[in-house]
Amino acid sequence: MTRPIDLRSDTFTQPSPRMRETIASAQVGDDVWGEDPTVIQLQERVAELLGKQAALFVPSGSMANLVALLVHTSPGDEVLLGWGSHCISYESGAGAAVAGVLFKVVGAGGQFTAQEVSAAICLSDDPHFAPTTLVWLENTHNMGGGRVFPQHEVEAIAALAHQRGLAVHVDGARLLNAAVASARPVRELVAAVDSTSICLSKGLGGPVGSVLTGSAAFIKQARRYRKMLGGAMRQVGLLAAAGLYALEHNVERLAEDHANARLLLEGLLPLKGLKLEPDHVQTNIVIFEVLESCRLDAAALIAAAGQRGLLLCPAGPGRVRLVTHLDVPRAACQQAVAIIAELLA
Ligand SMILES: *Cc1c(COP(=O)(O)O)cnc(C)c1O
Repeated sequence: MTRPIDLRSDTFTQPSPRMRETIASAQVGDDVWGEDPTVIQLQERVAELLGKQAALFVPSGSMANLVALLVHTSPGDEVLLGWGSHCISYESGAGAAVAGVLFKVVGAGGQFTAQEVSAAICLSDDPHFAPTTLVWLENTHNMGGGRVFPQHEVEAIAALAHQRGLAVHVDGARLLNAAVASARPVRELVAAVDSTSICLSKGLGGPVGSVLTGSAAFIKQARRYRKMLGGAMRQVGLLAAAGLYALEHNVERLAEDHANARLLLEGLLPLKGLKLEPDHVQTNIVIFEVLESCRLDAAALIAAAGQRGLLLCPAGPGRVRLVTHLDVPRAACQQAVAIIAELLA
């Protein structure tokens, strides 16, 4: 059988032959001792790219999120965030179990406004209540369909939060997709917030790792929590080299993934039985709802597509997610549309 068309996630990207060569020739040292030159180079590169003082390489986006929660909050604090955020939905409840925070969802579809934040903040010293100490944004928002958080709202939220003494963090697993889609330098997107992360292992095509950025003081504490969680690694420059390669070669090409997502959208829109939100398709994610009237339900459609070599991902009850990435060329996206059209005909 030919290779499947894998649209389940942009985490399925394979390191390219040239990325593997870069890994093989990386200079490394003991990063727990701060002596891996390639990790240092990656951290400096990302700090500069995001316009922050310092950065820290971590094994996963989930650990980046947990470390950020640990630095910004104390147990019993409340964190405001959007519906469907990765850190409430897909991280084994780590924020509650390990950081001890209470999550309060604001807004709808993953996005929210400064007004909604203002209404939800709790600053009372009445011991009945959990004090709000952090506002959490996800940009782009995965379950929101890869939408870019409106920049004016990011700035309004950050201004309000800071005025009330709260910290602001951006889960930027796909922040570079947001930057490419909005044609802005990525540092502009996060200039108003305190800390952020990016994933090297999503659309950028790296095998492993995320990078957390923020002030020097934030990163100093983050380094301690990373160690506490078992995330400090030794000759990890091998992975940092892949990350540097990804940042060098795979950022601008994200525009191709975005164009391919539009292609999927346009191909799927005319199909009966599916509901799409055209305005939400701004980056590399397409989510559709399978209507009652459809001849297959979401699970049956995913199974039937899998039989034909097209891999799709469930995204909650009745919803299906497609994610474009560097291992799915345009022709394969056209084929994906043809397969789904056939299955629904
Ligand atoms: C994938 C993802 C993460 C977590 O990354 P892992 O490396 O899989 O732990 C965090 N946030 C968002 C928005 C993601 O999409």
